[in-house]
Amino acid sequence: MLQHPGRVLPIGAQSSLTGGATPFGDVVLSTSRLTSMTVERDRVRVGAGVPLQTVQDELAKSRRWFPPVPTYLGAFAGGAVATCAAGAATFKYGSVRQWVEGLTIVLAGGDVLTLSRGQHRASPDGVFEIETSTGIRRVDIPSLPMPDVPKRSAGYHCAPGMDLVDLFIGSEGTLGVIADATFRTAPMPDGMCRALVPVPSEDEAIKLVTDLRAMAEDTWRDGDPNGVDIAAIEHIDARSIQIVREDGIDRKLALALPSGAAVVLLIDLEVPADPTLWSQLENVRDATAPDSPLVRFCRALDRRDLLDDTEIALPADRVRGAAFAELREAVPAGVNRRVAQAKQADRAISKTAADMIVPFHRFGDMMRECRRLFATRGLDLAVWGHISDGNVHPNVIPRSAADVEQGRHAILELGAIVIEMGGCPLAEHGVGRNPIKQQLLRQLYGDAGIDAMRRIKHSLDPNSALASGVIFPPQ
Ligand SMILES: Cc1cc2nc3c(=O)[nH]c(=O)nc-3n(C[C@H](O)[C@H](O)[C@H](O)COP(=O)(O)OP(=O)(O)OC[C@H]3O[C@@H](n4cnc5c(N)ncnc54)[C@H](O)[C@@H]3O)c2cc1C
Repeated sequence: MLQHPGRVLPIGAQSSLTGGATPFGDVVLSTSRLTSMTVERDRVRVGAGVPLQTVQDELAKSRRWFPPVPTYLGAFAGGAVATCAAGAATFKYGSVRQWVEGLTIVLAGGDVLTLSRGQHRASPDGVFEIETSTGIRRVDIPSLPMPDVPKRSAGYHCAPGMDLVDLFIGSEGTLGVIADATFRTAPMPDGMCRALVPVPSEDEAIKLVTDLRAMAEDTWRDGDPNGVDIAAIEHIDARSIQIVREDGIDRKLALALPSGAAVVLLIDLEVPADPTLWSQLENVRDATAPDSPLVRFCRALDRRDLLDDTEIALPADRVRGAAFAELREAVPAGVNRRVAQAKQADRAISKTAADMIVPFHRFGDMMRECRRLFATRGLDLAVWGHISDGNVHPNVIPRSAADVEQGRHAILELGAIVIEMGGCPLAEHGVGRNPIKQQLLRQLYGDAGIDAMRRIKHSLDPNSALASGVIFPPQ
């Protein structure tokens, strides 16, 4: 197939939110039959077409898991690598990049590269020399300042002395087809408590997240067995809460969301196996309560006057924990439905959403700028995301094509501010064929940076046969 003379678009589960997996006249290369899977001690080697849910199910048999999965578990392993996906648990576990140990890549033209992390590093002057059946391909890695944030799916990874594996992670099908990947795996946490925390203001929510992030970082540093161990904190804002109310999701899930809540936080707390969790929960305010991760966590909520409105699902109550996650997932679903309805009235209306990340200490500043930019344009905005990473998804609920146009301007302005703050305007969904995301990439790296990335593409795919128009507009 890769000797095909035309344009070829490799696809996984086509869950891309950037149009990256939507063909426009390309021959589609489906990876859905690449379904091999071999589990070893702390590794799993998977064919590109294995859905991540299948990976998790298989690993669960040996009480292990693959932590950096995106929220959508129907995504394929190859797609997750191609987009450098990241999920809710990035705060503790990082993005897919940190978990890839090896890749099998088919280059345009059909040469196969078998790569293991640590085997192929760029030379000190930033060059890879890759042997192919038609000669040596020289790939020059530019020196570009990459934002120092926990997730970045913004064109090619470029770093001094980098590993060749890292060039293909996040390359969105433009440099080669990922045939299989070897991932590290982690032991499953003994238990996971999930807390639903309604908070009266965004500032208060940021203060609580700041506290919990610091407590978790102390725990990891000191190895304190009673320390608070946070894997993820997700959030939905006031407009998102209104959406789940309008759609009756809170009633369906029997969740009490106080009318004054401006933000709902959804917090995953890893805890050791402990049969006394229930009694700990009941006696949190009692001076004789044991010193435990759960008690420390509840007291952190109490110090911010948030404990009384919080509901905690203990590890045994998986159904309740799943209901909290369902509430969070109901927000993008509700917004997408509203966009689709508006589109029926006007075909020029489309999803208008961003995926921004800043170093966490700038999160409050970013949110103030975000709200200002969308409010001054009179836009209806819902914001949710992975607050523990400083990563948000501002989404316009468009009433007209003019809203879409204004939303795009707001996203580009916000992107410039995020870059100024040391963040990245393309956090986890990639760039794809979305013209706004492609502009954001240009804002991030400038014309020279884009040209240098294009040269990488040209070295490995001189005819631009693979995923043409993805990451960069066609020339
Ligand atoms: C409800 C929902 C929630 C989501 N949540 C998240 C989230 O939390 N975090 C996140 O990161 N993303 C999220 N996404 C986006 C999406 O699921 C991820 O980007 C995912 O990694 C894409 O995987 P896929 O198999 O669907 O790839 P596709 O959508 O099929 O492809 C994505 C890109 O990768 C390329 N590609 C796919 N497979 C290969 C391959 N084998 N070799 C080379 N190139 C390939 C394609 O050409 C395309 O450019 C979400 C999407 C949905 C619908």
